[in-house]
Amino acid sequence: MPAYLPFAVRVSRVQRLSPTFVRVTVSGESLAGFAGHGYDQRINLIFPLPGEDAGTLPTGPDWVERWQAVPVERRPPLRTYTVRAFRPDRRELDLDFVLHGVAGPASRWATEARPGDPLTVIGPVAGHPGPFNDVAWAPPAHAGRLLLAADEAAVPAASAIVEMLGPHNRATVVLEVPEPADVLDLTVPDGVRLVWLARSRGERLGPVVRELVADLVPVAAAAGPAREPRLASGATPEEPDEDDLWEVPTSEETVGRPDGFYAWLAGESGAVVGMRRHLVGERGMDRRAVAFMGYWRRGRAQAN
Ligand SMILES: Cc1cc2nc3c(=O)[nH]c(=O)nc-3n(C[C@H](O)[C@H](O)[C@H](O)COP(=O)(O)OP(=O)(O)OC[C@H]3O[C@@H](n4cnc5c(N)ncnc54)[C@H](O)[C@@H]3O)c2cc1C
Repeated sequence: MPAYLPFAVRVSRVQRLSPTFVRVTVSGESLAGFAGHGYDQRINLIFPLPGEDAGTLPTGPDWVERWQAVPVERRPPLRTYTVRAFRPDRRELDLDFVLHGVAGPASRWATEARPGDPLTVIGPVAGHPGPFNDVAWAPPAHAGRLLLAADEAAVPAASAIVEMLGPHNRATVVLEVPEPADVLDLTVPDGVRLVWLARSRGERLGPVVRELVADLVPVAAAAGPAREPRLASGATPEEPDEDDLWEVPTSEETVGRPDGFYAWLAGESGAVVGMRRHLVGERGMDRRAVAFMGYWRRGRAQAN
């Protein structure tokens, strides 16, 4: 049995959180078999094409082959999202969507979502031995200083991580959203400093992260071993191809780091590439200390 399977769900609630965010709660008996892994757990969602119902959505262990066999113009689109919350007792998942217009199938679906609408969640199977790779968050065991930086697409993931931090974690969390009204009500544990930036006020993640890293990581400690080229396309590590931007140290790599600094940076690929260039190229930061994650790319749809 594969480690990830399709779970058939339906929308049970839709709650507008702010001008940019909508929370869509989905539920279904199938979620009795879903494994919630917490933190920034990512899942794939498959959306019915407009006017189509659950019958067109893939099911079963061989769903990949059957879904790929459908001609692309009739194939229900697949996109990556975050489990904002999972309530196994209620067989419910909260999914927080950025509304960015109706050009993208996911944003369009979320804009129009109504109770009863069908959706397929591709996620991990409870009780399966794995291995699973759906959680990128992997700080050192004794992380002394944590930095999380995210734009709106990664706000659900950063929020879920923040809510799971303990009072012993000294974390700085910077979240960039389109406008001040998008600041969400988050439960922040003691020891966590949360800063919201609003693009409409000219506030941007890149410069703030540079300043924070300069304060948090002294230059000597930042200079680590050179990073090996690990990019699939052959792009140099200093100038990675933005499509490749998913560089996430595993917990085996981060666990033994003596200084315990760990940064988790996620958002629009171009912005994350800029941060990577500064942290790795200019400051020589140890690649085991930072997870760089392009969550979306301006002007380009996610590959289906
Ligand atoms: C691990 C992971 C977790 C993610 N979790 C979430 C999540 O919880 N919530 C969430 O909203 N997104 C999340 N995303 C981002 C989401 O997958 C992308 O934004 C995706 O492109 C949306 O699909 P779409 O069909 O709406 O647009 P697409 O068809 O992919 O793109 C259509 C157009 O919209 C633009 N676009 C795409 N996303 C955005 C955006 N956020 N803002 C402005 N323009 C955009 C594209 O550049 C393109 O021009 C996550 C991505 C990853 C990799």
